[in-house]
Amino acid sequence: MTKISRRAALGAAVTAAATTRLTDTASAQTAAPKTPFAVPQTTIPIVGSSEVFPVRRVYCIGRNYAAHAREMGSDPTREPPFFFQKPTDAIQNVKVGEVADHPYPSLTKNYHYEVELVVALKAGGKDIPIEKALDLVYGYAVGLDMTRRDLQRAMGDQKKPWEIGKSFDRSAPIGPLHKVEQVGHVGKGKISLAVNGAVKQDATLAHMIWSVAEQISKLSEANELFPGDIIYSGTPENVGPVVKGDVLLCKIEGLPDMSIRIT
Ligand code: MN
Repeated sequence: MTKISRRAALGAAVTAAATTRLTDTASAQTAAPKTPFAVPQTTIPIVGSSEVFPVRRVYCIGRNYAAHAREMGSDPTREPPFFFQKPTDAIQNVKVGEVADHPYPSLTKNYHYEVELVVALKAGGKDIPIEKALDLVYGYAVGLDMTRRDLQRAMGDQKKPWEIGKSFDRSAPIGPLHKVEQVGHVGKGKISLAVNGAVKQDATLAHMIWSVAEQISKLSEANELFPGDIIYSGTPENVGPVVKGDVLLCKIEGLPDMSIRIT
């Protein structure tokens, strides 16, 4: 076999393999198993787009601002970052300009707000280097990591999982996503939360112990990341309780405000 004809033969083989793969994929799609009922995909609106962002996992980082770590009783200088998850259907989409009704949840008598920058990923991977991490970011949103603080603390005291304190229905209100190409990387500006007009949390994103890039990098050591993953990037100090009727106004510089009313 000459060099040229050998290459031609290889090329034909590659084309044949690719065709087979495409055919396999198509038949796999038509042969997808039927389900007895539909489970809706959680999505988040994208500003300036008719598309919506499909949510795969909701990650949250704990104690990512030094003053908040101290108020929660830990030493921010020694703690490596830790992550937990909320179920995707904990997402409550909040439109820009509306004050969305948010039900006071069952079982708690100490329901807390935590305003947070949310980072949405368009790509994934394992062991992502810090300098490549921001390449994975699709966009940003304003979010609330709502917390049944009494239950979170009680479970922690008993060395049991936090789940009931953090990962419950509608515990993740979020504004619409803004693409990086629209707003750039949001990581340095002011972040604040007011209750009934009184400012309670007031800090800057630059106060994060672990930056957005560092969070992505660290998280990718524990879990392979995928498009559709979102990360609640932690809350600054002065978290506190709400009661029915309270109106929360969340602000992050560079993004529109997000507001809910506790009902
Ligand atoms: Mn939080």
